[in-house]
Amino acid sequence: MGETVLTGRGASSGLAIGSAVLARRGESGCTTGEAKADALHLREAIDRARAEIENLAADLDDDAGEILAFQIELLDDGSFMDPAFVDIGQGATCKAALDRAFAAQVALFESDDDPYFQARAADVRDVHERLVRLLSGQSEPGSELPAHAVWVAEDLTPSLFLTLERKGLAAVVLARGSAASHVAMLARAREVPMVVGVGGAGRVIGDGAELVVDADAGEVVVDADQARLEACRRRLIEQRDAAALARAWRGRTPVTSSGRRIAVEINVEDPLLLDRLDPADCDGIGLVRTEFLYDDAGAVDEDRQFAIYRRLLGWAKGRPVTVRTLDAGGDKPIAGLTGEPEPNPFLGLRGIRLSLARPEVFAVQLRALARAAAHGPLRVMVPMVSVPEEIDEVRALLGRMVTDLLAEGRAAAMPPLGMMVEVPSAALCARDFAVDFYSIGSNDLAQYVLAAARDQPDVAHLYRPMHPSVLRLIREVVEAGRDKGVLVSLCGDLAGEPAAVSALLELGLERLSVTPAALGRVKHAIADLP
Ligand code: PEP
Ligand code: MG
Repeated sequence: MGETVLTGRGASSGLAIGSAVLARRGESGCTTGEAKADALHLREAIDRARAEIENLAADLDDDAGEILAFQIELLDDGSFMDPAFVDIGQGATCKAALDRAFAAQVALFESDDDPYFQARAADVRDVHERLVRLLSGQSEPGSELPAHAVWVAEDLTPSLFLTLERKGLAAVVLARGSAASHVAMLARAREVPMVVGVGGAGRVIGDGAELVVDADAGEVVVDADQARLEACRRRLIEQRDAAALARAWRGRTPVTSSGRRIAVEINVEDPLLLDRLDPADCDGIGLVRTEFLYDDAGAVDEDRQFAIYRRLLGWAKGRPVTVRTLDAGGDKPIAGLTGEPEPNPFLGLRGIRLSLARPEVFAVQLRALARAAAHGPLRVMVPMVSVPEEIDEVRALLGRMVTDLLAEGRAAAMPPLGMMVEVPSAALCARDFAVDFYSIGSNDLAQYVLAAARDQPDVAHLYRPMHPSVLRLIREVVEAGRDKGVLVSLCGDLAGEPAAVSALLELGLERLSVTPAALGRVKHAIADLP
Protein backbone atom coordinates (compact mmCIF):
# COMPACT_ATOMS: atom_id res chain seq x y z
CA MET A 1 0.00 0.00 0.00
CA GLY A 2 1.39 3.40 -0.97
CA GLU A 3 1.64 6.49 1.15
CA THR A 4 -1.24 8.92 1.58
CA VAL A 5 -0.53 12.65 1.74
CA LEU A 6 -3.08 14.79 3.57
CA THR A 7 -2.83 18.56 3.40
CA GLY A 8 -3.76 21.25 5.89
CA ARG A 9 -2.14 24.41 7.26
CA GLY A 10 0.92 24.53 9.45
CA ALA A 11 -0.03 26.23 12.73
CA SER A 12 3.23 25.50 14.55
CA SER A 13 6.28 24.74 12.46
CA GLY A 14 8.53 21.70 12.61
CA LEU A 15 8.86 18.12 11.47
CA ALA A 16 8.00 14.94 13.37
CA ILE A 17 7.75 11.21 12.75
CA GLY A 18 5.50 9.31 15.13
CA SER A 19 2.50 7.05 15.71
CA ALA A 20 -1.04 8.32 15.49
CA VAL A 21 -3.06 8.42 18.68
CA LEU A 22 -6.69 9.04 17.78
CA ALA A 23 -8.69 11.01 20.30
CA ARG A 24 -11.69 9.00 21.39
CA ARG A 25 -15.09 10.62 21.62
CA GLY A 26 -15.08 12.71 24.74
CA GLU A 27 -11.37 13.41 24.40
CA SER A 28 -11.54 15.65 21.35
CA GLY A 29 -14.14 17.83 22.93
CA CYS A 30 -17.27 15.89 21.97
CA THR A 31 -19.49 15.25 24.94
CA THR A 32 -20.43 11.77 26.08
CA GLY A 33 -23.32 10.16 27.99
CA GLU A 34 -26.36 11.65 29.57
CA ALA A 35 -25.30 11.71 33.16
CA LYS A 36 -28.27 11.61 35.48
CA ALA A 37 -26.67 13.14 38.46
CA ASP A 38 -27.67 15.42 41.29
CA ALA A 39 -26.12 18.60 42.70
CA LEU A 40 -23.64 16.62 44.78
CA HIS A 41 -22.38 14.86 41.69
CA LEU A 42 -21.81 18.23 40.00
CA ARG A 43 -20.10 19.67 43.09
CA GLU A 44 -17.69 16.71 43.11
CA ALA A 45 -16.96 17.17 39.43
CA ILE A 46 -16.21 20.88 40.00
CA ASP A 47 -13.83 20.05 42.85
CA ARG A 48 -12.04 17.41 40.78
CA ALA A 49 -11.81 19.73 37.77
CA ARG A 50 -10.29 22.39 40.00
CA ALA A 51 -7.73 19.93 41.36
CA GLU A 52 -6.82 18.73 37.84
CA ILE A 53 -6.33 22.27 36.55
CA GLU A 54 -4.32 23.29 39.62
CA ASN A 55 -2.09 20.29 39.11
CA LEU A 56 -1.59 21.22 35.46
CA ALA A 57 -0.83 24.85 36.35
CA ALA A 58 1.67 23.94 39.09
CA ASP A 59 4.86 25.14 37.40
CA LEU A 60 3.49 27.33 34.63
CA ASP A 61 3.82 31.08 35.00
CA ASP A 62 3.52 32.13 31.37
CA ASP A 63 0.38 32.62 29.29
CA ALA A 64 -0.48 28.94 29.68
CA GLY A 65 -0.58 29.54 33.44
CA GLU A 66 -2.75 32.59 32.88
CA ILE A 67 -5.28 30.57 30.83
CA LEU A 68 -5.48 27.95 33.59
CA ALA A 69 -5.81 30.59 36.33
CA PHE A 70 -8.73 32.05 34.39
CA GLN A 71 -10.34 28.59 34.28
CA ILE A 72 -9.98 28.15 38.04
CA GLU A 73 -11.59 31.57 38.56
CA LEU A 74 -14.54 30.39 36.45
CA LEU A 75 -15.03 27.30 38.59
CA ASP A 76 -14.89 29.43 41.74
CA ASP A 77 -17.30 32.02 40.37
CA GLY A 78 -20.66 31.47 42.08
CA SER A 79 -22.56 33.69 39.65
CA PHE A 80 -21.30 31.49 36.84
CA MET A 81 -21.99 28.02 38.31
CA ASP A 82 -25.06 28.79 40.46
CA PRO A 83 -27.60 28.76 37.59
CA ALA A 84 -26.62 25.12 36.92
CA PHE A 85 -27.47 24.18 40.51
CA VAL A 86 -30.77 26.06 40.25
CA ASP A 87 -31.63 24.10 37.08
CA ILE A 88 -30.80 20.82 38.81
CA GLY A 89 -33.07 21.82 41.68
CA GLN A 90 -35.84 22.23 39.12
CA GLY A 91 -35.39 18.73 37.74
CA ALA A 92 -32.76 19.15 34.99
CA THR A 93 -30.09 16.49 34.61
CA CYS A 94 -26.60 17.51 35.63
CA LYS A 95 -25.41 17.46 32.04
CA ALA A 96 -28.33 19.55 30.72
CA ALA A 97 -27.87 22.12 33.49
CA LEU A 98 -24.17 22.35 32.79
CA ASP A 99 -24.70 22.70 29.04
CA ARG A 100 -27.10 25.58 29.59
CA ALA A 101 -24.87 27.46 32.03
CA PHE A 102 -21.84 27.16 29.76
CA ALA A 103 -23.70 27.92 26.52
CA ALA A 104 -24.77 31.25 28.05
CA GLN A 105 -21.21 32.11 29.10
CA VAL A 106 -19.65 31.06 25.80
CA ALA A 107 -22.17 33.21 23.92
CA LEU A 108 -21.33 36.16 26.19
CA PHE A 109 -17.59 35.89 25.47
CA GLU A 110 -18.08 35.21 21.78
CA SER A 111 -20.19 38.33 21.34
CA ASP A 112 -17.65 40.60 23.04
CA ASP A 113 -16.16 43.28 20.77
CA ASP A 114 -12.69 42.75 22.20
CA PRO A 115 -10.83 39.89 20.43
CA TYR A 116 -9.09 39.16 23.75
CA PHE A 117 -12.41 38.23 25.37
CA GLN A 118 -13.62 36.42 22.24
CA ALA A 119 -10.60 34.13 22.49
CA ARG A 120 -11.62 33.40 26.09
CA ALA A 121 -14.73 31.55 24.78
CA ALA A 122 -12.46 28.60 23.88
CA ASP A 123 -11.12 28.53 27.44
CA VAL A 124 -14.68 28.45 28.82
CA ARG A 125 -15.55 25.57 26.46
CA ASP A 126 -12.45 23.81 27.68
CA VAL A 127 -13.72 23.88 31.30
CA HIS A 128 -17.12 22.67 30.12
CA GLU A 129 -15.58 19.65 28.38
CA ARG A 130 -13.51 18.81 31.45
CA LEU A 131 -16.61 18.87 33.67
CA VAL A 132 -18.64 16.77 31.23
CA ARG A 133 -15.83 14.21 31.14
CA LEU A 134 -15.65 14.07 34.93
CA LEU A 135 -19.43 13.75 35.22
CA SER A 136 -19.35 10.77 32.87
CA GLY A 137 -16.66 9.13 35.00
CA GLN A 138 -13.85 9.18 32.41
CA SER A 139 -10.27 9.54 33.52
CA GLU A 140 -7.83 12.17 32.22
CA PRO A 141 -7.45 11.62 28.46
CA GLY A 142 -4.22 10.53 26.83
CA SER A 143 -3.08 8.90 30.07
CA GLU A 144 -1.15 6.25 28.17
CA LEU A 145 0.63 8.13 25.46
CA PRO A 146 3.19 6.06 23.53
CA ALA A 147 6.61 7.49 22.70
CA HIS A 148 6.55 9.87 19.69
CA ALA A 149 2.77 10.20 19.84
CA VAL A 150 1.00 12.30 17.22
CA TRP A 151 -2.36 13.38 18.59
CA VAL A 152 -5.06 13.26 15.89
CA ALA A 153 -8.39 14.89 16.69
CA GLU A 154 -11.17 17.11 15.42
CA ASP A 155 -9.97 19.95 17.62
CA LEU A 156 -7.99 20.32 20.84
CA THR A 157 -8.44 22.42 23.94
CA PRO A 158 -5.52 24.33 25.52
CA SER A 159 -5.60 22.38 28.78
CA LEU A 160 -5.67 18.98 27.05
CA PHE A 161 -2.76 20.12 24.89
CA LEU A 162 -0.76 21.02 28.01
CA THR A 163 -1.59 17.65 29.59
CA LEU A 164 -0.44 15.80 26.48
CA GLU A 165 2.66 17.93 26.05
CA ARG A 166 3.80 17.01 29.55
CA LYS A 167 3.64 13.38 28.48
CA GLY A 168 5.90 13.96 25.50
CA LEU A 169 3.87 14.83 22.44
CA ALA A 170 5.63 14.66 19.05
CA ALA A 171 3.05 16.57 16.99
CA VAL A 172 -0.63 17.44 16.64
CA VAL A 173 -2.92 16.96 13.63
CA LEU A 174 -6.37 18.56 13.75
CA ALA A 175 -9.22 18.16 11.28
CA ARG A 176 -10.49 21.61 12.23
CA GLY A 177 -8.57 24.15 14.33
CA SER A 178 -7.02 27.47 13.41
CA ALA A 179 -3.54 28.93 13.44
CA ALA A 180 -4.86 31.90 15.42
CA SER A 181 -6.27 29.79 18.27
CA HIS A 182 -4.88 29.71 21.80
CA VAL A 183 -3.85 26.10 21.37
CA ALA A 184 -1.86 26.94 18.22
CA MET A 185 -0.06 29.73 20.11
CA LEU A 186 0.77 27.30 22.92
CA ALA A 187 2.08 24.79 20.38
CA ARG A 188 4.32 27.45 18.81
CA ALA A 189 5.60 28.54 22.21
CA ARG A 190 6.42 24.92 23.08
CA GLU A 191 7.77 24.06 19.63
CA VAL A 192 5.31 21.21 19.03
CA PRO A 193 4.63 20.86 15.28
CA MET A 194 0.92 21.29 14.52
CA VAL A 195 -1.05 20.99 11.29
CA VAL A 196 -4.66 22.20 11.33
CA GLY A 197 -7.50 21.98 8.81
CA VAL A 198 -6.65 18.41 7.75
CA GLY A 199 -10.13 17.43 6.57
CA GLY A 200 -10.86 13.74 7.04
CA ALA A 201 -7.89 13.21 9.37
CA GLY A 202 -9.96 11.07 11.75
CA ARG A 203 -11.28 8.93 8.88
CA VAL A 204 -8.09 8.34 6.91
CA ILE A 205 -5.63 7.96 9.79
CA GLY A 206 -5.89 4.75 11.79
CA ASP A 207 -4.92 4.47 15.44
CA GLY A 208 -1.21 3.58 15.60
CA ALA A 209 -0.50 4.52 11.96
CA GLU A 210 2.99 5.80 11.29
CA LEU A 211 2.83 9.50 10.39
CA VAL A 212 5.22 12.07 9.06
CA VAL A 213 4.01 15.52 10.16
CA ASP A 214 5.67 18.26 8.13
CA ALA A 215 4.11 21.41 9.56
CA ASP A 216 6.36 23.64 7.44
CA ALA A 217 4.76 22.17 4.31
CA GLY A 218 1.32 21.80 5.98
CA GLU A 219 1.41 18.05 5.19
CA VAL A 220 0.64 14.84 7.04
CA VAL A 221 1.87 11.65 5.36
CA VAL A 222 0.34 8.32 6.37
CA ASP A 223 2.53 5.23 5.88
CA ALA A 224 5.26 7.24 4.17
CA ASP A 225 7.40 5.34 1.69
CA GLN A 226 10.96 4.40 2.53
CA ALA A 227 12.58 7.21 0.52
CA ARG A 228 10.50 9.88 2.23
CA LEU A 229 11.10 8.39 5.67
CA GLU A 230 14.84 8.40 5.11
CA ALA A 231 14.81 11.99 3.85
CA CYS A 232 12.77 13.05 6.89
CA ARG A 233 15.07 11.23 9.28
CA ARG A 234 18.03 13.06 7.72
CA ARG A 235 16.19 16.37 8.08
CA LEU A 236 15.42 15.58 11.71
CA ILE A 237 19.09 14.87 12.42
CA GLU A 238 20.11 18.11 10.67
CA GLN A 239 17.50 20.02 12.63
CA ARG A 240 18.65 18.45 15.90
CA ASP A 241 22.29 19.37 15.15
CA ALA A 242 21.29 22.89 14.16
CA ALA A 243 19.19 23.23 17.31
CA ALA A 244 22.10 22.06 19.49
CA LEU A 245 24.41 24.61 17.84
CA ALA A 246 21.79 27.33 18.24
CA ARG A 247 21.37 26.51 21.93
CA ALA A 248 25.11 26.60 22.49
CA TRP A 249 25.49 30.02 20.84
CA ARG A 250 22.25 31.72 21.76
CA GLY A 251 23.52 33.26 25.00
CA ARG A 252 26.90 34.48 23.69
CA THR A 253 27.86 38.06 22.93
CA PRO A 254 27.87 38.66 19.16
CA VAL A 255 31.43 39.69 18.27
CA THR A 256 33.53 39.00 15.19
CA SER A 257 36.90 37.27 15.56
CA SER A 258 38.59 40.70 15.52
CA GLY A 259 36.36 41.91 18.33
CA ARG A 260 33.83 43.98 16.36
CA ARG A 261 30.62 44.04 18.37
CA ILE A 262 27.47 43.51 16.29
CA ALA A 263 24.06 44.26 17.80
CA VAL A 264 21.62 41.37 17.34
CA GLU A 265 18.00 42.13 18.16
CA ILE A 266 14.92 39.97 17.68
CA ASN A 267 11.77 40.13 15.57
CA VAL A 268 8.55 39.46 17.45
CA GLU A 269 5.25 38.47 15.88
CA ASP A 270 3.66 36.69 18.80
CA PRO A 271 4.52 38.11 22.25
CA LEU A 272 3.52 34.76 23.81
CA LEU A 273 6.78 33.32 22.48
CA LEU A 274 8.82 35.73 24.61
CA ASP A 275 7.94 33.71 27.71
CA ARG A 276 10.55 31.18 26.66
CA LEU A 277 13.26 33.69 25.77
CA ASP A 278 15.85 35.33 27.95
CA PRO A 279 16.15 39.05 27.08
CA ALA A 280 19.87 38.87 27.90
CA ASP A 281 20.29 36.75 24.73
CA CYS A 282 19.56 39.75 22.50
CA ASP A 283 20.21 43.48 22.27
CA GLY A 284 16.54 44.33 22.28
CA ILE A 285 13.56 43.95 19.98
CA GLY A 286 14.30 45.28 16.49
CA LEU A 287 10.84 44.65 15.07
CA VAL A 288 7.44 43.99 16.62
CA ARG A 289 5.00 43.10 13.87
CA THR A 290 1.73 44.41 15.31
CA GLU A 291 -0.67 42.70 12.92
CA PHE A 292 -1.59 40.26 15.73
CA LEU A 293 -3.47 43.16 17.37
CA TYR A 294 -5.95 43.29 14.51
CA ASP A 295 -8.38 40.76 13.13
CA ASP A 296 -11.70 40.61 11.29
CA ALA A 297 -13.42 41.88 14.43
CA GLY A 298 -11.28 45.05 14.56
CA ALA A 299 -8.39 46.32 16.63
CA VAL A 300 -7.48 45.68 20.21
CA ASP A 301 -8.43 48.84 22.12
CA GLU A 302 -5.99 51.52 23.29
CA ASP A 303 -5.69 50.31 26.88
CA ARG A 304 -4.90 46.75 25.88
CA GLN A 305 -2.42 47.87 23.23
CA PHE A 306 -0.76 50.06 25.86
CA ALA A 307 -0.62 47.09 28.25
CA ILE A 308 0.94 44.88 25.55
CA TYR A 309 3.61 47.48 24.65
CA ARG A 310 4.43 47.96 28.33
CA ARG A 311 4.72 44.23 28.75
CA LEU A 312 7.23 44.11 25.89
CA LEU A 313 9.23 46.88 27.57
CA GLY A 314 9.09 44.98 30.85
CA TRP A 315 10.33 41.82 29.17
CA ALA A 316 13.23 43.66 27.48
CA LYS A 317 14.49 45.02 30.84
CA GLY A 318 15.82 48.35 29.57
CA ARG A 319 16.75 47.19 26.08
CA PRO A 320 15.13 49.04 23.16
CA VAL A 321 11.78 47.82 21.84
CA THR A 322 10.98 48.80 18.25
CA VAL A 323 7.28 48.61 17.52
CA ARG A 324 6.24 48.79 13.90
CA THR A 325 2.88 50.38 13.25
CA LEU A 326 0.28 48.25 11.51
CA ASP A 327 1.54 46.78 8.24
CA ALA A 328 -1.71 45.44 6.80
CA GLY A 329 -2.31 44.88 3.09
CA GLY A 330 -0.09 43.23 0.50
CA ASP A 331 0.66 39.75 1.80
CA LYS A 332 -1.11 40.58 5.08
CA PRO A 333 -4.77 41.32 4.30
CA ILE A 334 -7.01 41.90 7.31
CA ALA A 335 -10.70 41.49 6.55
CA GLY A 336 -12.69 44.58 7.46
CA LEU A 337 -9.58 46.76 7.36
CA THR A 338 -7.89 46.27 4.02
CA GLY A 339 -11.22 46.37 2.16
CA GLU A 340 -11.90 44.96 -1.29
CA PRO A 341 -9.13 42.86 -2.87
CA GLU A 342 -6.93 45.07 -5.06
CA PRO A 343 -5.58 44.09 -8.50
CA ASN A 344 -2.01 44.78 -7.30
CA PRO A 345 -2.07 44.46 -3.50
CA PHE A 346 1.70 44.92 -3.10
CA LEU A 347 1.49 48.24 -4.94
CA GLY A 348 -1.69 49.42 -3.31
CA LEU A 349 -3.02 50.54 0.03
CA ARG A 350 -0.66 48.76 2.41
CA GLY A 351 1.47 49.64 5.43
CA ILE A 352 1.57 53.33 6.23
CA ARG A 353 -0.61 54.16 3.24
CA LEU A 354 -3.47 52.21 4.79
CA SER A 355 -2.87 53.64 8.28
CA LEU A 356 -2.98 57.20 6.96
CA ALA A 357 -6.15 56.36 5.03
CA ARG A 358 -7.78 55.03 8.25
CA PRO A 359 -6.93 57.75 10.80
CA GLU A 360 -9.47 56.48 13.35
CA VAL A 361 -7.72 53.10 13.47
CA PHE A 362 -4.20 54.61 13.36
CA ALA A 363 -4.92 57.08 16.18
CA VAL A 364 -5.63 54.23 18.63
CA GLN A 365 -2.22 52.69 17.98
CA LEU A 366 -0.34 56.00 18.07
CA ARG A 367 -1.95 56.99 21.39
CA ALA A 368 -1.08 53.61 22.93
CA LEU A 369 2.50 53.92 21.66
CA ALA A 370 2.89 57.50 22.95
CA ARG A 371 1.67 56.33 26.37
CA ALA A 372 4.02 53.35 26.44
CA ALA A 373 6.97 55.55 25.39
CA ALA A 374 6.75 57.24 28.79
CA HIS A 375 7.65 53.91 30.43
CA GLY A 376 10.82 52.82 28.64
CA PRO A 377 13.01 52.89 25.53
CA LEU A 378 10.26 52.39 22.98
CA ARG A 379 10.87 53.25 19.32
CA VAL A 380 8.20 53.57 16.69
CA MET A 381 8.84 52.33 13.18
CA VAL A 382 6.75 53.01 10.08
CA PRO A 383 6.35 50.34 7.35
CA MET A 384 6.19 50.76 3.55
CA VAL A 385 7.31 54.37 3.53
CA SER A 386 7.92 55.57 -0.02
CA VAL A 387 8.06 59.40 0.22
CA PRO A 388 9.25 61.78 3.02
CA GLU A 389 5.80 63.36 3.48
CA GLU A 390 4.52 60.10 4.97
CA ILE A 391 7.05 60.29 7.80
CA ASP A 392 6.35 64.01 8.31
CA GLU A 393 2.67 63.23 8.62
CA VAL A 394 3.24 60.44 11.15
CA ARG A 395 5.56 62.66 13.19
CA ALA A 396 2.93 65.41 13.28
CA LEU A 397 0.18 62.94 14.27
CA LEU A 398 2.31 61.35 16.98
CA GLY A 399 3.27 64.80 18.33
CA ARG A 400 -0.42 65.73 18.48
CA MET A 401 -1.22 62.52 20.36
CA VAL A 402 1.48 63.30 22.93
CA THR A 403 0.12 66.84 23.41
CA ASP A 404 -3.47 65.57 23.77
CA LEU A 405 -2.47 62.87 26.24
CA LEU A 406 -0.49 65.29 28.38
CA ALA A 407 -3.46 67.70 28.32
CA GLU A 408 -5.63 64.80 29.58
CA GLY A 409 -3.20 64.40 32.46
CA ARG A 410 -1.79 61.11 31.20
CA ALA A 411 1.87 60.16 31.00
CA ALA A 412 3.14 60.23 27.41
CA ALA A 413 6.38 60.82 25.52
CA MET A 414 7.52 61.35 21.95
CA PRO A 415 9.42 58.18 20.99
CA PRO A 416 12.23 58.05 18.41
CA LEU A 417 10.56 57.66 15.01
CA GLY A 418 12.13 55.48 12.34
CA MET A 419 11.21 53.93 9.04
CA MET A 420 11.38 50.59 7.32
CA VAL A 421 13.41 50.92 4.15
CA GLU A 422 11.70 48.41 1.92
CA VAL A 423 10.70 50.43 -1.15
CA PRO A 424 13.41 51.34 -3.70
CA SER A 425 12.53 55.07 -3.60
CA ALA A 426 13.13 55.09 0.16
CA ALA A 427 16.48 53.32 -0.21
CA LEU A 428 17.71 55.54 -3.03
CA CYS A 429 16.63 58.78 -1.31
CA ALA A 430 17.10 57.66 2.32
CA ARG A 431 18.85 60.93 3.21
CA ASP A 432 15.70 62.91 2.44
CA PHE A 433 13.62 61.34 5.20
CA ALA A 434 13.54 63.04 8.60
CA VAL A 435 13.89 59.90 10.74
CA ASP A 436 15.71 58.85 13.90
CA PHE A 437 16.67 55.41 12.53
CA TYR A 438 16.38 53.17 9.49
CA SER A 439 15.57 49.47 9.42
CA ILE A 440 15.98 47.72 6.09
CA GLY A 441 13.15 45.36 5.15
CA SER A 442 14.97 43.09 2.74
CA ASN A 443 11.91 40.87 2.23
CA ASP A 444 9.95 43.61 0.53
CA LEU A 445 12.92 45.50 -0.86
CA ALA A 446 13.93 42.40 -2.86
CA GLN A 447 10.48 41.92 -4.33
CA TYR A 448 10.20 45.54 -5.41
CA VAL A 449 13.72 45.72 -6.85
CA LEU A 450 13.44 42.46 -8.78
CA ALA A 451 9.73 42.86 -9.60
CA ALA A 452 9.11 39.34 -8.26
CA ALA A 453 6.37 38.92 -5.64
CA ARG A 454 7.61 37.36 -2.40
CA ASP A 455 4.63 34.98 -2.24
CA GLN A 456 4.44 33.86 -5.87
CA PRO A 457 6.01 30.42 -6.42
CA ASP A 458 6.19 30.92 -10.21
CA VAL A 459 8.72 33.73 -9.83
CA ALA A 460 10.50 32.37 -6.76
CA HIS A 461 13.67 31.86 -8.86
CA LEU A 462 13.80 35.64 -9.42
CA TYR A 463 13.12 36.60 -5.82
CA ARG A 464 16.73 36.97 -4.65
CA PRO A 465 17.35 39.13 -1.57
CA MET A 466 21.13 38.67 -2.12
CA HIS A 467 21.03 40.02 -5.69
CA PRO A 468 23.67 42.74 -6.29
CA SER A 469 20.89 45.27 -6.97
CA VAL A 470 19.48 44.71 -3.46
CA LEU A 471 22.93 44.78 -1.85
CA ARG A 472 23.70 48.08 -3.61
CA LEU A 473 20.58 49.63 -2.13
CA ILE A 474 21.48 48.32 1.31
CA ARG A 475 24.86 50.03 0.95
CA GLU A 476 23.08 53.31 0.02
CA VAL A 477 21.08 53.17 3.25
CA VAL A 478 24.10 52.28 5.40
CA GLU A 479 25.95 55.29 3.96
CA ALA A 480 22.97 57.59 4.43
CA GLY A 481 22.76 56.49 8.05
CA ARG A 482 26.46 57.07 8.58
CA ASP A 483 26.30 60.56 7.03
CA LYS A 484 23.25 61.53 9.07
CA GLY A 485 24.50 59.87 12.25
CA VAL A 486 21.44 57.64 12.67
CA LEU A 487 21.30 53.91 13.35
CA VAL A 488 20.74 51.47 10.51
CA SER A 489 19.60 47.90 11.06
CA LEU A 490 18.27 45.14 8.84
CA CYS A 491 15.24 43.18 10.02
CA GLY A 492 14.30 41.18 6.89
CA ASP A 493 14.76 37.41 6.80
CA LEU A 494 18.20 37.88 5.22
CA ALA A 495 19.58 38.87 8.64
CA GLY A 496 18.78 35.40 9.98
CA GLU A 497 20.65 33.53 7.25
CA PRO A 498 24.22 32.68 8.22
CA ALA A 499 25.28 32.66 4.56
CA ALA A 500 24.20 36.30 4.18
CA VAL A 501 25.69 37.67 7.41
CA SER A 502 29.18 38.09 5.97
CA ALA A 503 27.91 40.16 2.99
CA LEU A 504 25.76 42.32 5.27
CA LEU A 505 28.62 43.10 7.64
CA GLU A 506 30.88 43.89 4.68
CA LEU A 507 28.31 46.45 3.56
CA GLY A 508 28.84 48.16 6.90
CA LEU A 509 25.81 46.96 8.83
CA GLU A 510 26.40 46.58 12.56
CA ARG A 511 22.85 45.88 13.69
CA LEU A 512 20.66 42.93 12.68
CA SER A 513 17.23 41.87 13.85
CA VAL A 514 16.33 38.21 13.46
CA THR A 515 13.67 35.70 14.31
CA PRO A 516 14.43 34.36 17.83
CA ALA A 517 15.09 30.86 16.46
CA ALA A 518 18.00 32.32 14.41
CA LEU A 519 19.81 34.03 17.33
CA GLY A 520 22.29 31.20 17.92
CA ARG A 521 23.14 30.51 14.29
CA VAL A 522 23.61 34.21 13.49
CA LYS A 523 25.91 34.75 16.48
CA HIS A 524 27.87 31.68 15.37
CA ALA A 525 28.20 33.11 11.84
CA ILE A 526 29.31 36.51 13.23
CA ALA A 527 32.04 34.88 15.34
CA ASP A 528 33.50 33.35 12.16
CA LEU A 529 33.98 36.73 10.49
CA PRO A 530 37.03 38.98 10.73
C1 PEP B 1 10.60 43.08 5.32
O1 PEP B 1 9.86 43.43 4.39
O2 PEP B 1 11.79 42.72 5.17
C2 PEP B 1 10.09 43.04 6.70
C3 PEP B 1 10.87 42.82 7.74
O3 PEP B 1 8.76 43.22 6.87
P1 PEP B 1 7.66 42.10 6.58
O4 PEP B 1 8.34 40.81 6.27
O5 PEP B 1 6.81 42.05 7.81
O6 PEP B 1 6.92 42.68 5.40
MG1 MG C 1 8.00 44.42 4.76
